[in-house]
Amino acid sequence: MKKKIIAINKKLIKQFGTPQRPKILPKPIDMLIGTILSQNTNDRNSYHAYKNLKEKYSNWDEVNKAKRTLIEKEIKVAGLGFQKSTAIKNLLKELEKQIGNFELKEINSLDNENSIKYLTSFKGVGVKTASCVLLFSLDKNVCPVDTHLHRTLNRIGIVKTSAPDKTYFEINKDFPPKIAHSFHTNLIRLGREICTPKNYKCNICPLVDICNFDSKNFTEITKTSERSFMLLDNI
Ligand code: SF4
Repeated sequence: MKKKIIAINKKLIKQFGTPQRPKILPKPIDMLIGTILSQNTNDRNSYHAYKNLKEKYSNWDEVNKAKRTLIEKEIKVAGLGFQKSTAIKNLLKELEKQIGNFELKEINSLDNENSIKYLTSFKGVGVKTASCVLLFSLDKNVCPVDTHLHRTLNRIGIVKTSAPDKTYFEINKDFPPKIAHSFHTNLIRLGREICTPKNYKCNICPLVDICNFDSKNFTEITKTSERSFMLLDNI
């Protein structure tokens, strides 16, 4: 598996380039809020909602103290305003109750496995969100798995799993060093633009010669959609 991941990463970099990262990485709490906002919407809408919140409130303590309805108003562009504002309030309240602040410094002394366990102990934080904190905030070499990675990795044949969290644990048992960010980001791009759920375009896929999917589609048009915006590298 390790060799295949390295080979896929090389091909994706050749196709899409090396994804850029911000010079200053976001704080874990910023990443947690960003991923709550990103559920069931596109990255541009969740980014706007995130920016609205940051512009309206000067810190997460203010958000914690604000009325839920006011938070909902700021984030409505991302959809599911009631659910997301409730999730944000619940998370901030729980952090305040359990550790007394929103810094999450505790994870700095934990290894990856225990960081995931610690973060997922908070209500509303799943494995994907926790692993995004590790990769995007703490620069750990872990590869979060969303629906795009889960679908493409199963099609390619690297894993045979029934859910994204299972794929996450499978591929992160021994992930090749230093490539988690480029692999994760470029594979999302492949999943959004080429290896889409339907009408996937094997005729223009850079992984076609190493993909074991037995229902490849060579009949679709060759035009790819515009390059997708990546929320978690812009928080
Ligand atoms: S060859 Fe087709 S099925 Fe395989 S990864 Fe590429 S687009 Fe997806």
